[in-house]
Amino acid sequence: MSQVKYLIAGSSHAGLSALEAIRMQDGEGSIILLTREKYLPYSPTILPYVVSGLVEAKEAFLRDEEALSLYGVEFKRNAKVVSVEPQTRTVKLQTGESIQCEKLLLATGARPMLPPIPGLEDAPYHVLRTLDDAIGLHRVAQKAKSAIVLGAGLIGMHAAENLAKQGRKVTVVEAMPHVLPGYFDEQAASLVQRVFSENGIRIFAGSTVTHAGASKSGCLVSFEPGEDLSADLLVVATGVKPNIDYLTKSGIALDEGILLDERMRTSAEGIWAAGDVAQAQSFFGDGKRINAILPNAVEQGRIAGMDMVGDQALKPFPGGLPMNTYRFMGHNAFSVGMSQVPEADEGYEVKQVFLPKNLQYYKLVFKEGRLVGASGINANMDPGIMLQLIGRKVDLKGGKTQFLASPIDTGRVLMSRLWR
Ligand SMILES: Cc1cc2nc3c(=O)[nH]c(=O)nc-3n(C[C@H](O)[C@H](O)[C@H](O)COP(=O)(O)OP(=O)(O)OC[C@H]3O[C@@H](n4cnc5c(N)ncnc54)[C@H](O)[C@@H]3O)c2cc1C
Repeated sequence: MSQVKYLIAGSSHAGLSALEAIRMQDGEGSIILLTREKYLPYSPTILPYVVSGLVEAKEAFLRDEEALSLYGVEFKRNAKVVSVEPQTRTVKLQTGESIQCEKLLLATGARPMLPPIPGLEDAPYHVLRTLDDAIGLHRVAQKAKSAIVLGAGLIGMHAAENLAKQGRKVTVVEAMPHVLPGYFDEQAASLVQRVFSENGIRIFAGSTVTHAGASKSGCLVSFEPGEDLSADLLVVATGVKPNIDYLTKSGIALDEGILLDERMRTSAEGIWAAGDVAQAQSFFGDGKRINAILPNAVEQGRIAGMDMVGDQALKPFPGGLPMNTYRFMGHNAFSVGMSQVPEADEGYEVKQVFLPKNLQYYKLVFKEGRLVGASGINANMDPGIMLQLIGRKVDLKGGKTQFLASPIDTGRVLMSRLWR
Protein backbone atom coordinates (compact mmCIF):
# COMPACT_ATOMS: atom_id res chain seq x y z
CA MET A 1 0.00 0.00 0.00
CA SER A 2 1.38 3.45 -0.89
CA GLN A 3 1.22 6.35 1.55
CA VAL A 4 0.97 10.07 0.88
CA LYS A 5 0.25 13.27 2.79
CA TYR A 6 -2.41 14.70 0.47
CA LEU A 7 -4.55 12.66 -1.88
CA ILE A 8 -6.77 14.48 -4.38
CA ALA A 9 -9.33 12.33 -6.21
CA GLY A 10 -10.38 14.16 -9.39
CA SER A 11 -8.09 16.29 -11.54
CA SER A 12 -10.44 18.91 -12.94
CA HIS A 13 -11.26 22.45 -11.73
CA ALA A 14 -11.94 21.65 -8.07
CA GLY A 15 -8.97 19.29 -7.69
CA LEU A 16 -6.50 21.66 -9.36
CA SER A 17 -7.73 24.65 -7.37
CA ALA A 18 -7.15 22.70 -4.13
CA LEU A 19 -3.73 21.61 -5.34
CA GLU A 20 -2.68 25.23 -5.84
CA ALA A 21 -4.01 26.28 -2.43
CA ILE A 22 -2.09 23.44 -0.76
CA ARG A 23 1.16 24.31 -2.52
CA MET A 24 0.84 27.98 -1.48
CA GLN A 25 1.44 26.85 2.12
CA ASP A 26 3.12 23.49 1.88
CA GLY A 27 5.78 23.21 -0.80
CA GLU A 28 7.10 19.87 0.41
CA GLY A 29 4.23 17.59 1.47
CA SER A 30 3.71 14.65 -0.88
CA ILE A 31 0.64 14.89 -3.12
CA ILE A 32 -1.04 12.36 -5.37
CA LEU A 33 -3.59 13.63 -7.90
CA LEU A 34 -5.88 10.96 -9.36
CA THR A 35 -8.10 10.78 -12.38
CA ARG A 36 -10.05 7.80 -13.61
CA GLU A 37 -9.35 8.94 -17.16
CA LYS A 38 -6.34 8.53 -19.43
CA TYR A 39 -6.00 12.25 -20.11
CA LEU A 40 -4.23 15.21 -18.58
CA PRO A 41 -6.52 17.44 -16.47
CA TYR A 42 -9.05 19.11 -18.80
CA SER A 43 -12.03 21.45 -18.64
CA PRO A 44 -15.45 20.02 -19.55
CA THR A 45 -16.53 23.54 -20.59
CA ILE A 46 -14.43 23.26 -23.77
CA LEU A 47 -16.06 20.00 -24.88
CA PRO A 48 -18.81 21.52 -27.09
CA TYR A 49 -16.06 23.09 -29.21
CA VAL A 50 -14.29 19.73 -29.47
CA VAL A 51 -17.58 18.30 -30.75
CA SER A 52 -17.86 20.99 -33.43
CA GLY A 53 -14.18 20.64 -34.37
CA LEU A 54 -13.56 24.30 -33.55
CA VAL A 55 -10.79 23.26 -31.17
CA GLU A 56 -8.67 20.14 -30.91
CA ALA A 57 -9.01 17.86 -27.90
CA LYS A 58 -5.61 18.94 -26.54
CA GLU A 59 -6.88 22.53 -26.21
CA ALA A 60 -9.16 21.40 -23.39
CA PHE A 61 -6.16 20.51 -21.21
CA LEU A 62 -5.73 22.67 -18.12
CA ARG A 63 -2.18 21.61 -17.22
CA ASP A 64 0.57 19.68 -18.99
CA GLU A 65 3.01 17.16 -17.48
CA GLU A 66 5.60 19.88 -16.96
CA ALA A 67 3.24 22.09 -14.97
CA LEU A 68 2.19 19.13 -12.83
CA SER A 69 5.80 18.22 -12.12
CA LEU A 70 6.49 21.83 -11.09
CA TYR A 71 3.83 21.35 -8.40
CA GLY A 72 5.75 18.27 -7.29
CA VAL A 73 2.67 16.15 -7.64
CA GLU A 74 2.39 12.51 -8.63
CA PHE A 75 -0.29 12.41 -11.29
CA LYS A 76 -1.99 9.05 -11.70
CA ARG A 77 -4.20 8.39 -14.73
CA ASN A 78 -6.62 5.45 -15.15
CA ALA A 79 -6.94 5.48 -11.36
CA LYS A 80 -10.63 5.11 -10.61
CA VAL A 81 -11.51 5.24 -6.91
CA VAL A 82 -13.87 2.38 -6.02
CA SER A 83 -14.09 2.78 -2.24
CA VAL A 84 -12.97 4.94 0.69
CA GLU A 85 -12.32 3.75 4.22
CA PRO A 86 -12.70 6.92 6.33
CA GLN A 87 -11.15 5.70 9.61
CA THR A 88 -7.75 5.04 8.07
CA ARG A 89 -8.31 7.34 5.06
CA THR A 90 -7.51 4.53 2.69
CA VAL A 91 -8.64 4.80 -0.89
CA LYS A 92 -9.00 1.71 -3.03
CA LEU A 93 -8.55 1.92 -6.79
CA GLN A 94 -10.10 -0.24 -9.50
CA THR A 95 -6.59 -1.42 -10.34
CA GLY A 96 -6.47 -3.12 -6.93
CA GLU A 97 -3.98 -0.58 -5.55
CA SER A 98 -4.65 1.05 -2.16
CA ILE A 99 -3.41 4.46 -1.08
CA GLN A 100 -3.42 5.66 2.53
CA CYS A 101 -3.29 9.41 3.13
CA GLU A 102 -3.30 11.97 5.93
CA LYS A 103 -5.74 14.28 4.12
CA LEU A 104 -8.14 13.38 1.36
CA LEU A 105 -10.04 15.60 -1.06
CA LEU A 106 -12.94 14.13 -3.03
CA ALA A 107 -13.34 16.17 -6.22
CA THR A 108 -14.87 13.54 -8.47
CA GLY A 109 -17.40 15.83 -10.16
CA ALA A 110 -20.63 14.76 -11.75
CA ARG A 111 -21.95 12.66 -14.59
CA PRO A 112 -24.94 12.96 -16.91
CA MET A 113 -28.29 12.13 -15.38
CA LEU A 114 -30.40 10.03 -17.70
CA PRO A 115 -34.14 10.70 -17.68
CA PRO A 116 -36.51 7.73 -17.22
CA ILE A 117 -37.65 7.71 -20.86
CA PRO A 118 -39.09 4.38 -22.03
CA GLY A 119 -36.83 2.84 -24.69
CA LEU A 120 -33.91 5.22 -24.14
CA GLU A 121 -31.55 2.43 -23.09
CA ASP A 122 -31.99 0.82 -26.53
CA ALA A 123 -31.49 4.08 -28.44
CA PRO A 124 -28.01 4.96 -29.74
CA TYR A 125 -27.74 8.06 -27.56
CA HIS A 126 -24.71 10.18 -26.66
CA VAL A 127 -23.91 12.27 -23.62
CA LEU A 128 -21.35 15.05 -23.24
CA ARG A 129 -19.29 15.04 -20.06
CA THR A 130 -15.88 13.54 -20.75
CA LEU A 131 -13.26 14.15 -23.39
CA ASP A 132 -13.96 10.67 -24.77
CA ASP A 133 -17.66 11.62 -25.08
CA ALA A 134 -16.69 14.74 -27.05
CA ILE A 135 -14.24 12.92 -29.33
CA GLY A 136 -16.84 10.20 -29.97
CA LEU A 137 -19.57 12.76 -30.67
CA HIS A 138 -17.30 14.67 -33.04
CA ARG A 139 -16.66 11.48 -34.97
CA VAL A 140 -20.32 10.46 -35.34
CA ALA A 141 -21.43 14.04 -35.95
CA GLN A 142 -19.25 14.10 -39.07
CA LYS A 143 -21.53 11.51 -40.67
CA ALA A 144 -24.82 12.82 -39.25
CA LYS A 145 -27.12 15.17 -41.11
CA SER A 146 -29.57 15.69 -38.27
CA ALA A 147 -29.53 15.67 -34.48
CA ILE A 148 -32.00 15.74 -31.61
CA VAL A 149 -30.84 17.24 -28.32
CA LEU A 150 -32.85 16.35 -25.21
CA GLY A 151 -32.53 19.12 -22.61
CA ALA A 152 -32.11 22.86 -23.08
CA GLY A 153 -29.79 23.62 -20.19
CA LEU A 154 -26.36 25.11 -20.84
CA ILE A 155 -24.81 21.83 -22.02
CA GLY A 156 -27.71 21.04 -24.36
CA MET A 157 -27.78 24.56 -25.81
CA HIS A 158 -24.00 24.60 -26.34
CA ALA A 159 -24.19 21.18 -28.01
CA ALA A 160 -27.12 22.27 -30.23
CA GLU A 161 -25.38 25.45 -31.35
CA ASN A 162 -22.14 23.67 -32.14
CA LEU A 163 -23.84 20.87 -34.06
CA ALA A 164 -25.86 23.43 -36.05
CA LYS A 165 -22.67 25.34 -36.87
CA GLN A 166 -21.39 22.14 -38.45
CA GLY A 167 -24.41 22.18 -40.75
CA ARG A 168 -26.57 19.62 -38.90
CA LYS A 169 -30.34 20.03 -38.76
CA VAL A 170 -30.87 20.31 -35.01
CA THR A 171 -34.00 19.96 -32.85
CA VAL A 172 -33.99 20.64 -29.11
CA VAL A 173 -36.68 19.16 -26.84
CA GLU A 174 -37.07 20.57 -23.33
CA ALA A 175 -39.57 19.49 -20.66
CA MET A 176 -39.63 22.88 -18.90
CA PRO A 177 -41.69 25.71 -20.46
CA HIS A 178 -38.62 27.49 -21.84
CA VAL A 179 -34.91 27.05 -22.52
CA LEU A 180 -32.24 27.62 -19.86
CA PRO A 181 -34.75 27.49 -16.99
CA GLY A 182 -31.99 27.49 -14.38
CA TYR A 183 -30.71 30.89 -15.50
CA PHE A 184 -33.41 32.91 -17.23
CA ASP A 185 -37.09 33.73 -16.96
CA GLU A 186 -39.54 33.22 -19.81
CA GLN A 187 -39.01 36.64 -21.42
CA ALA A 188 -35.24 36.38 -21.51
CA ALA A 189 -35.42 32.78 -22.72
CA SER A 190 -37.77 33.82 -25.54
CA LEU A 191 -34.97 35.96 -27.00
CA VAL A 192 -32.52 33.05 -26.90
CA GLN A 193 -35.13 30.79 -28.49
CA ARG A 194 -35.76 33.34 -31.23
CA VAL A 195 -32.08 33.52 -32.14
CA PHE A 196 -31.84 29.74 -32.22
CA SER A 197 -34.94 29.51 -34.45
CA GLU A 198 -33.56 32.18 -36.79
CA ASN A 199 -30.46 30.04 -37.10
CA GLY A 200 -32.48 27.00 -38.11
CA ILE A 201 -32.62 25.18 -34.76
CA ARG A 202 -36.09 23.97 -33.85
CA ILE A 203 -36.99 24.15 -30.17
CA PHE A 204 -39.88 22.30 -28.55
CA ALA A 205 -40.16 23.57 -24.97
CA GLY A 206 -42.74 22.30 -22.48
CA SER A 207 -42.64 18.93 -24.25
CA THR A 208 -42.37 15.57 -22.53
CA VAL A 209 -40.54 12.80 -24.32
CA THR A 210 -42.73 9.69 -24.13
CA HIS A 211 -40.48 7.25 -25.96
CA ALA A 212 -37.05 6.99 -27.55
CA GLY A 213 -35.61 4.20 -29.61
CA ALA A 214 -33.38 3.18 -32.48
CA SER A 215 -34.37 3.79 -36.09
CA LYS A 216 -32.78 2.73 -39.39
CA SER A 217 -30.66 5.84 -39.67
CA GLY A 218 -30.22 6.60 -35.97
CA CYS A 219 -32.90 7.38 -33.44
CA LEU A 220 -36.60 7.98 -33.10
CA VAL A 221 -38.07 10.23 -30.40
CA SER A 222 -41.77 10.72 -29.59
CA PHE A 223 -42.92 13.58 -27.44
CA GLU A 224 -46.08 15.43 -26.49
CA PRO A 225 -47.31 17.92 -27.25
CA GLY A 226 -45.29 17.48 -30.41
CA GLU A 227 -44.54 14.93 -33.05
CA ASP A 228 -42.44 11.86 -33.76
CA LEU A 229 -38.97 12.87 -34.82
CA SER A 230 -36.18 10.85 -36.29
CA ALA A 231 -32.57 11.93 -36.59
CA ASP A 232 -29.13 10.49 -37.20
CA LEU A 233 -27.87 11.54 -33.78
CA LEU A 234 -29.40 11.75 -30.30
CA VAL A 235 -27.72 13.77 -27.54
CA VAL A 236 -29.08 13.53 -23.99
CA ALA A 237 -28.28 16.59 -21.85
CA THR A 238 -30.91 16.53 -19.12
CA GLY A 239 -28.82 17.41 -16.08
CA VAL A 240 -26.03 15.95 -14.00
CA LYS A 241 -25.67 14.02 -10.77
CA PRO A 242 -22.65 13.77 -8.45
CA ASN A 243 -20.22 10.85 -8.73
CA ILE A 244 -20.67 9.41 -5.24
CA ASP A 245 -21.31 5.71 -5.92
CA TYR A 246 -17.95 4.72 -4.47
CA LEU A 247 -18.96 6.26 -1.11
CA THR A 248 -22.23 4.45 -0.45
CA LYS A 249 -20.68 2.08 2.10
CA SER A 250 -18.22 4.61 3.55
CA GLY A 251 -20.48 6.12 6.20
CA ILE A 252 -19.63 9.64 4.95
CA ALA A 253 -22.79 11.78 5.12
CA LEU A 254 -24.42 11.95 1.69
CA ASP A 255 -27.59 13.40 0.30
CA GLU A 256 -27.72 14.06 -3.45
CA GLY A 257 -24.02 14.90 -3.16
CA ILE A 258 -21.41 14.84 -0.38
CA LEU A 259 -22.66 17.00 2.48
CA LEU A 260 -20.18 19.69 3.54
CA ASP A 261 -19.72 22.38 6.15
CA GLU A 262 -18.49 25.90 5.35
CA ARG A 263 -14.84 24.77 5.27
CA MET A 264 -15.67 22.03 2.74
CA ARG A 265 -15.20 19.35 5.38
CA THR A 266 -17.20 16.15 5.04
CA SER A 267 -18.64 14.33 8.06
CA ALA A 268 -15.41 12.26 8.23
CA GLU A 269 -12.30 13.59 9.94
CA GLY A 270 -9.52 14.43 7.47
CA ILE A 271 -11.73 14.20 4.39
CA TRP A 272 -12.86 17.18 2.31
CA ALA A 273 -14.90 17.50 -0.89
CA ALA A 274 -15.39 20.22 -3.51
CA GLY A 275 -17.03 20.98 -6.84
CA ASP A 276 -19.86 19.25 -8.69
CA VAL A 277 -19.72 16.29 -6.30
CA ALA A 278 -20.44 18.48 -3.29
CA GLN A 279 -23.59 19.69 -1.60
CA ALA A 280 -22.88 22.80 0.45
CA GLN A 281 -24.82 25.74 1.86
CA SER A 282 -26.62 27.85 -0.72
CA PHE A 283 -25.95 31.60 -0.77
CA PHE A 284 -29.61 32.39 -0.11
CA GLY A 285 -29.72 30.22 3.00
CA ASP A 286 -32.24 27.73 1.64
CA GLY A 287 -30.33 24.61 2.62
CA LYS A 288 -27.44 22.67 1.16
CA ARG A 289 -27.47 22.44 -2.61
CA ILE A 290 -25.45 21.22 -5.52
CA ASN A 291 -24.22 24.13 -7.61
CA ALA A 292 -22.61 22.39 -10.58
CA ILE A 293 -20.78 25.30 -12.19
CA LEU A 294 -17.14 26.04 -12.80
CA PRO A 295 -16.66 29.08 -10.50
CA ASN A 296 -18.19 27.13 -7.63
CA ALA A 297 -15.78 24.21 -8.20
CA VAL A 298 -12.81 26.58 -8.20
CA GLU A 299 -13.92 28.40 -5.04
CA GLN A 300 -14.76 25.25 -3.10
CA GLY A 301 -11.50 23.61 -4.22
CA ARG A 302 -9.54 26.63 -3.00
CA ILE A 303 -11.30 26.67 0.39
CA ALA A 304 -10.83 22.90 0.82
CA GLY A 305 -7.13 23.16 -0.07
CA MET A 306 -6.63 26.09 2.33
CA ASP A 307 -8.31 24.19 5.15
CA MET A 308 -6.28 21.06 4.42
CA VAL A 309 -3.08 23.03 5.08
CA GLY A 310 -4.54 25.15 7.90
CA ASP A 311 -4.17 28.41 5.94
CA GLN A 312 -5.08 31.26 8.35
CA ALA A 313 -6.34 33.41 5.49
CA LEU A 314 -9.26 31.05 4.87
CA LYS A 315 -12.67 32.69 4.74
CA PRO A 316 -15.53 30.20 5.14
CA PHE A 317 -17.68 29.40 2.10
CA PRO A 318 -20.26 32.19 1.70
CA GLY A 319 -22.73 29.85 0.01
CA GLY A 320 -23.14 28.71 -3.56
CA LEU A 321 -24.47 31.37 -5.91
CA PRO A 322 -25.83 30.37 -9.32
CA MET A 323 -23.99 32.34 -12.00
CA ASN A 324 -23.15 32.05 -15.64
CA THR A 325 -22.09 34.00 -18.64
CA TYR A 326 -23.35 32.53 -21.87
CA ARG A 327 -22.31 33.43 -25.40
CA PHE A 328 -24.65 32.17 -28.10
CA MET A 329 -24.63 32.84 -31.84
CA GLY A 330 -22.71 36.08 -31.35
CA HIS A 331 -24.86 37.34 -28.46
CA ASN A 332 -24.03 37.75 -24.77
CA ALA A 333 -26.09 36.66 -21.82
CA PHE A 334 -25.41 36.45 -18.12
CA SER A 335 -27.25 35.45 -14.98
CA VAL A 336 -26.18 35.86 -11.36
CA GLY A 337 -28.25 34.89 -8.34
CA MET A 338 -32.04 34.83 -8.64
CA SER A 339 -33.50 35.10 -12.11
CA GLN A 340 -36.99 34.07 -10.98
CA VAL A 341 -38.70 35.48 -7.92
CA PRO A 342 -40.41 32.98 -5.60
CA GLU A 343 -44.14 33.58 -6.21
CA ALA A 344 -45.25 33.19 -2.60
CA ASP A 345 -42.83 35.82 -1.30
CA GLU A 346 -43.83 39.46 -1.76
CA GLY A 347 -40.65 40.92 -0.35
CA TYR A 348 -38.99 41.22 -3.76
CA GLU A 349 -38.75 44.22 -6.03
CA VAL A 350 -38.04 43.70 -9.71
CA LYS A 351 -36.81 46.13 -12.34
CA GLN A 352 -37.06 44.69 -15.81
CA VAL A 353 -36.38 46.01 -19.31
CA PHE A 354 -37.48 43.99 -22.34
CA LEU A 355 -36.70 45.30 -25.82
CA PRO A 356 -37.42 42.36 -28.12
CA LYS A 357 -36.76 44.30 -31.33
CA ASN A 358 -33.23 45.12 -30.16
CA LEU A 359 -32.84 41.65 -28.71
CA GLN A 360 -32.09 43.24 -25.35
CA TYR A 361 -33.23 42.37 -21.88
CA TYR A 362 -32.24 42.84 -18.32
CA LYS A 363 -33.69 42.15 -14.93
CA LEU A 364 -32.57 43.26 -11.50
CA VAL A 365 -34.09 41.62 -8.42
CA PHE A 366 -33.88 43.32 -5.01
CA LYS A 367 -34.76 42.22 -1.53
CA GLU A 368 -34.61 44.55 1.48
CA GLY A 369 -32.61 47.09 -0.51
CA ARG A 370 -30.00 44.60 -1.66
CA LEU A 371 -29.46 43.16 -5.09
CA VAL A 372 -30.18 39.39 -5.07
CA GLY A 373 -30.36 38.68 -8.79
CA ALA A 374 -29.22 40.15 -12.09
CA SER A 375 -29.63 38.69 -15.54
CA GLY A 376 -29.38 40.10 -19.00
CA ILE A 377 -29.16 39.50 -22.71
CA ASN A 378 -27.05 41.91 -24.76
CA ALA A 379 -27.37 44.15 -21.69
CA ASN A 380 -24.91 46.91 -21.04
CA MET A 381 -23.98 45.49 -17.65
CA ASP A 382 -20.92 44.04 -16.02
CA PRO A 383 -21.70 40.56 -14.62
CA GLY A 384 -18.58 40.75 -12.42
CA ILE A 385 -19.83 43.90 -10.69
CA MET A 386 -23.31 42.43 -10.27
CA LEU A 387 -21.73 39.34 -8.73
CA GLN A 388 -19.77 41.47 -6.25
CA LEU A 389 -22.82 43.54 -5.30
CA ILE A 390 -24.85 40.38 -4.65
CA GLY A 391 -22.04 38.40 -3.04
CA ARG A 392 -21.06 41.22 -0.68
CA LYS A 393 -24.71 42.01 0.12
CA VAL A 394 -24.08 45.70 -0.60
CA ASP A 395 -26.83 47.93 0.83
CA LEU A 396 -28.30 49.90 -2.10
CA LYS A 397 -31.18 51.53 -0.24
CA GLY A 398 -29.72 55.04 -0.34
CA GLY A 399 -28.67 55.02 -3.99
CA LYS A 400 -31.15 52.69 -5.63
CA THR A 401 -32.64 55.27 -8.00
CA GLN A 402 -29.20 56.16 -9.19
CA PHE A 403 -28.27 52.50 -9.48
CA LEU A 404 -31.37 51.73 -11.54
CA ALA A 405 -30.68 54.67 -13.83
CA SER A 406 -27.12 53.59 -14.42
CA PRO A 407 -26.33 50.15 -13.03
CA ILE A 408 -22.85 49.90 -14.55
CA ASP A 409 -21.44 53.24 -13.44
CA THR A 410 -23.09 53.25 -10.03
CA GLY A 411 -22.03 49.64 -9.46
CA ARG A 412 -18.44 50.53 -10.27
CA VAL A 413 -18.46 53.52 -7.93
CA LEU A 414 -19.95 51.43 -5.11
CA MET A 415 -17.41 48.67 -5.60
CA SER A 416 -14.43 51.02 -5.76
CA ARG A 417 -15.59 52.56 -2.47
CA LEU A 418 -15.85 49.13 -0.86
CA TRP A 419 -12.48 47.98 -2.13
CA ARG A 420 -10.73 51.13 -0.95
C1 LIG B 1 -20.29 20.38 -21.94
C2 LIG B 1 -20.19 21.17 -20.65
C3 LIG B 1 -20.25 22.55 -20.69
C4 LIG B 1 -20.16 23.28 -19.49
N1 LIG B 1 -20.23 24.64 -19.55
C5 LIG B 1 -20.14 25.35 -18.41
C6 LIG B 1 -20.18 26.77 -18.44
O1 LIG B 1 -20.32 27.38 -19.51
N2 LIG B 1 -20.05 27.46 -17.26
C7 LIG B 1 -19.90 26.80 -16.06
O2 LIG B 1 -19.80 27.45 -15.02
N3 LIG B 1 -19.87 25.46 -16.00
C8 LIG B 1 -19.98 24.71 -17.13
N4 LIG B 1 -19.93 23.34 -17.07
C9 LIG B 1 -19.79 22.70 -15.73
C10 LIG B 1 -18.33 22.66 -15.30
O3 LIG B 1 -17.57 22.02 -16.28
C11 LIG B 1 -18.25 21.92 -13.97
O4 LIG B 1 -18.97 22.63 -13.00
C12 LIG B 1 -16.81 21.74 -13.49
O5 LIG B 1 -16.04 21.04 -14.44
C13 LIG B 1 -16.79 20.99 -12.17
O6 LIG B 1 -15.48 20.70 -11.82
P1 LIG B 1 -15.15 19.49 -10.83
O7 LIG B 1 -13.68 19.51 -10.64
O8 LIG B 1 -16.02 19.55 -9.64
O9 LIG B 1 -15.63 18.15 -11.60
P2 LIG B 1 -15.37 17.57 -13.04
O10 LIG B 1 -14.96 18.62 -13.99
O11 LIG B 1 -16.57 16.73 -13.36
O12 LIG B 1 -14.13 16.59 -12.85
C14 LIG B 1 -14.21 15.43 -12.07
C15 LIG B 1 -12.86 14.75 -12.04
O13 LIG B 1 -12.96 13.58 -11.23
C16 LIG B 1 -12.52 12.44 -11.94
N5 LIG B 1 -13.27 11.29 -11.39
C17 LIG B 1 -14.60 11.07 -11.37
N6 LIG B 1 -14.91 9.95 -10.72
C18 LIG B 1 -13.72 9.43 -10.30
C19 LIG B 1 -13.36 8.29 -9.56
N7 LIG B 1 -14.27 7.43 -9.09
N8 LIG B 1 -12.05 8.07 -9.33
C20 LIG B 1 -11.09 8.93 -9.78
N9 LIG B 1 -11.38 10.05 -10.47
C21 LIG B 1 -12.68 10.28 -10.73
C22 LIG B 1 -12.78 12.77 -13.38
O14 LIG B 1 -12.00 11.96 -14.22
C23 LIG B 1 -12.36 14.25 -13.38
O15 LIG B 1 -10.96 14.35 -13.40
C24 LIG B 1 -20.00 22.59 -18.25
C25 LIG B 1 -19.95 21.19 -18.22
C26 LIG B 1 -20.03 20.49 -19.41
C27 LIG B 1 -19.97 18.97 -19.36
